[in-house]
Amino acid sequence: MSEYDYDLFVIGAGSGGVRAARTAAATGARVAVAEDRYLGGTCVNVGCVPKKLYSYAAHFHEAFEDAGGFGWQLSGAPAFDWPTLRDNKIGEIKRLNGIYGRLLDNAGVRLINGRATVLDPHHVAVAGETISAEKILVAVGGWPWVPDFPGSELTVNSNQVFDLDSFPERFLVLGGGYIAVEFASIFNGLGSESHLVYRGELFLRGFDREVREYTRDEMAKKGVNLHFEVNIEAIEKVAGGLKVSLTNGETLEVDAVLAATGRRPHLEGLGLDSFDLATHPDGSLRVNERFETSVPSILALGDVIGGPELTPVALAEAMQLVEHHYGETTPAPLDYARIATAVFCHPNIGTVGLSEEEAREQCGEIRVYTADFRPMKHTLSGSSERCLMKLIVDDHSDVVVGAHMVGEEAGEVIQGIAIAVRAGLTKAQFDQTVGIHPTGAEEFVTMRSPSRR
Ligand code: NDP
Repeated sequence: MSEYDYDLFVIGAGSGGVRAARTAAATGARVAVAEDRYLGGTCVNVGCVPKKLYSYAAHFHEAFEDAGGFGWQLSGAPAFDWPTLRDNKIGEIKRLNGIYGRLLDNAGVRLINGRATVLDPHHVAVAGETISAEKILVAVGGWPWVPDFPGSELTVNSNQVFDLDSFPERFLVLGGGYIAVEFASIFNGLGSESHLVYRGELFLRGFDREVREYTRDEMAKKGVNLHFEVNIEAIEKVAGGLKVSLTNGETLEVDAVLAATGRRPHLEGLGLDSFDLATHPDGSLRVNERFETSVPSILALGDVIGGPELTPVALAEAMQLVEHHYGETTPAPLDYARIATAVFCHPNIGTVGLSEEEAREQCGEIRVYTADFRPMKHTLSGSSERCLMKLIVDDHSDVVVGAHMVGEEAGEVIQGIAIAVRAGLTKAQFDQTVGIHPTGAEEFVTMRSPSRR
């Protein structure tokens, strides 16, 4: 019999924590999870899931506009009702919270309601109990971070934006990352006058340059007001809204300002300070490939360890962690290269592997294949939306090292392409694949001549 109450004590019931808890329990480990907020973490409650639901809602705007060219006549102008969307979303999240609870229950994991603090490398205090565990897993995720400027307290963060009391007819988002471009698109689609304010010359730093420029142009065409190389100086309340003063002297009056200026590990109050755990410069925890911090019985995964802040990454880390600590084999280290990702701005971005700029640096000689076209649907819809597809090939090996798309359902398309890129397939093998017609995605197997080298 173990000297500990549990083999594994997980702090945080988000994507990574729940997956680690369930998978460890399935191996026979005795597992408990502490959660002080909501089951499912950021992704389910204030991230991927509600964001995607709102993105669907925003796409209806275009669907109504596109419908006319196909013969549909809508009687009267369609009207959008924010409380209906918000409250239906709340109902769906409650349903998912329940599913997460049942998943833990069915796996035999004890769920404790409360914020745990780590007392020593094998003890936690939570909800009035002191519990011992052989291993403690910190899976508490991240929390929105907002810079300090006059009036920054008048902004909402990405946890709060989903539940605004009233619909912002005029909306502004500060930042140039995933959350900023997604919400600028969502509120624009829902009918707001939408502004994005970003301090750099072009948003989505780190993505392929051509993809960023294409997205800029498409978002601008859809009506998002883009303000680059400028920041917010101050925000003040005025009658009927918020006055936002920009560093270039301009002022904008809006109803809501979302600060989408990054997220930080949510480690405060966990009692970890006394252990002096090794951290990265951004405060995230350093772990080895077994997901052990510098105190080996304290493990960590997900957004607190500073890798890509993506749910599927946390899930993959959880599976790896469990295999290392409770499995029979030693898994190969997780390959963080070529992780596909989508940005749900409108139109969507899907991307896997190297950007053109990274490939030029890492591969030397490359071939770049691009298709930039008007999707068939828009021949009748009248929409001016275009689609970009792009393959980057290492000229020497012929391996496709990057695939990028800006267009409708780009995430869905790139998910399939990602398998080929992850498998290291060559451009010749892409070319041998017979396309599916008529689709947009068939362009990925029919691009024959390089656009440039
Ligand atoms: P990001 O780190 O992606 O972007 C933060 C943005 O804020 C950057 O553009 C940054 O500018 C800017 N910024 C930082 N500090 C300041 C400042 N002091 N003043 C003005 N601007 C500032 O964070 P997000 O909040 O957008 O998202 C967090 C993470 O969540 C993402 O990185 C992603 O991993 C994940 N996520 C994933 C999604 C998906 O998979 N679709 C959707 C949403 C989030 P600069 O570029 O100049 O540093």
